[in-house]
Amino acid sequence: MNTGDNGFLKEKLRECGYKFTGQRAAILDTLVQCSGQHVSTEELFNLVKAKHPEIGLATVYRTMILLDKLNLVHKLDFDDGFSRYELVKPNEDHRHHHLICNTCGCVSEVEEDLLDNLEEEILRKNGFLVKDHRVQFYGLCKKCRE
Ligand SMILES: [Zn+2]
Ligand SMILES: [Zn+2]
Repeated sequence: MNTGDNGFLKEKLRECGYKFTGQRAAILDTLVQCSGQHVSTEELFNLVKAKHPEIGLATVYRTMILLDKLNLVHKLDFDDGFSRYELVKPNEDHRHHHLICNTCGCVSEVEEDLLDNLEEEILRKNGFLVKDHRVQFYGLCKKCRE
């Protein structure tokens, strides 16, 4: 069993005074297996259910709200009618950007921040210190352009 990321998540839950229950462990394990993806609550539930039929949708739903509150996951909205989640990557102080294809709906990520200059400009002009941001680009992916 892969306990790499899970260990970190477990510690964080405990630190914040939450129990690391079997159900939470199962949901976190599944999330770790989906790392790099952007799963909806329903998709996650279906994956969890395959191995743990005793876990209900409401539990997955509540767990994701808790993990979001603890800043262990990011909640994403790609305007497709679903709430999606992804694990927060360790050492990620700023959110990565998402590229969303209008044709096939695929979502890819831009790892580089690229916004340092813009943030400096905002601080200078508006006196506003940017701590985080959510950037989504909509357009045509490489495949759909061909
Ligand atoms: Zn596409
Ligand atoms: Zn992402």
